[in-house]
Amino acid sequence: MTDLPTPITQDVLTLPRKLPDGGKLNLVGLTREEMRDALIAAGTPERQAKMRVGQVWQWIYHWGVRDFAAMTNLAKDYRALLEAHFEIALPEVVTCQVSMDGTRKYLLRIADGHEVEAVYIPEENRGTLCISSQVGCTLTCSFCHTGTQKLVRNLTAGEIVGQVMVARDDLGEWPQPGAPKDETRLISNVVLMGMGEPLYNFDNVRNAMKVVMDGEGLTLSRRRITLSTSGVVPEIARAAEEIGCLLAVSFHATTDAVRDKLVPINKRWNIATLLDTLRDYPRLSNSERITFEYVMLKGVNDSDEDARRLVKLIRGIPAKINLIPFNEWPGSPYQRSDWERIEAFADIVYKAGYAAPIRTPRGEDIMAACGQLKSATERARKSAAQIAAETGL
Ligand code: SAH
Ligand code: SF4
Repeated sequence: MTDLPTPITQDVLTLPRKLPDGGKLNLVGLTREEMRDALIAAGTPERQAKMRVGQVWQWIYHWGVRDFAAMTNLAKDYRALLEAHFEIALPEVVTCQVSMDGTRKYLLRIADGHEVEAVYIPEENRGTLCISSQVGCTLTCSFCHTGTQKLVRNLTAGEIVGQVMVARDDLGEWPQPGAPKDETRLISNVVLMGMGEPLYNFDNVRNAMKVVMDGEGLTLSRRRITLSTSGVVPEIARAAEEIGCLLAVSFHATTDAVRDKLVPINKRWNIATLLDTLRDYPRLSNSERITFEYVMLKGVNDSDEDARRLVKLIRGIPAKINLIPFNEWPGSPYQRSDWERIEAFADIVYKAGYAAPIRTPRGEDIMAACGQLKSATERARKSAAQIAAETGL
């Protein structure tokens, strides 16, 4: 491992919401308050605004309607007003790859041509959608492929909510008018564990989750949403107060020396500082426990001693430890710990009184597992360029 200076800054901007040629504002991703302001600015009388938001909201987020003309409880001229000022726009699905195990990976194109990925993971009793919060990531965790990507920009709230909506489209999960209410949900959980550091895009992530949690639309409860952070300490308490979802922390090491190398943001907020902040999270967010994610890297962080240190460090914090067997990517500098090693580590943690599930890698054949995102596209591009060079095109 080299010890190059690693960027640990938040030096990205959300590009201004790019208006399409007609200058229409996208309604997807606006909070109720923002939508209210936008409808008023477009000419909706103030005294009607709350009701109009309720109606439009239900069409977009409950029924999944994309066309103002289909909003049949609105008068024709009001539909025309909406049509003239607004659009209901989602990321474009470039490809959907399906793994042998049923995992589905979506490559999505967003405004200005950037691309992000979202992954749907079906399980027996639930379905989890893993969504991205940024294109790439400014952090450079040495075991994560997303961290090697140079290009970075924050996603807008609409692009974050849009990932949930396109996955619902693909899975055919919007309710059918007149059909009996179906209580089984294909997307029962959402995890912010795709590309990017969600707490470095705080406002957009918060607003997007407000939309996703709204009881008259997508209606995912805050306990079915998990935000994973590498440890952006100043934003953790804010996440508890303003989002209130479950929290996962990419812990990955038990000494500062090792964590500095694996998760370089540790140089800014070290293990002790991080743990101090985490102690307050369950109380502030009214949630039961924090998930500590721990990637198992052969010979780096997987010893019995590490396991013992880990349980000592987190003592007093209501926690679950999620052990993630390292997922390799082309050129990755680490190896996955042996299975016996992972089990021995899990055993020590479990005996200390913590749940210690070992995360089964999903969608490995389509490079959809944790930390592998984006690589498939980049490789595809590279090989296209190679092919062009070889064929002289
Ligand atoms: N940026 C956020 C969320 C995205 S990463 C964060 O770091 O928490 C989601 C999880 O996958 C994190 O715990 C991350 O550390 C882990 N991860 C990244 N690369 C991985 C890899 N190659 N194998 C296994 N887990 C990985
Ligand atoms: Fe960014 Fe998370 Fe990957 Fe680290 S693990 S580089 S924070 S996406």
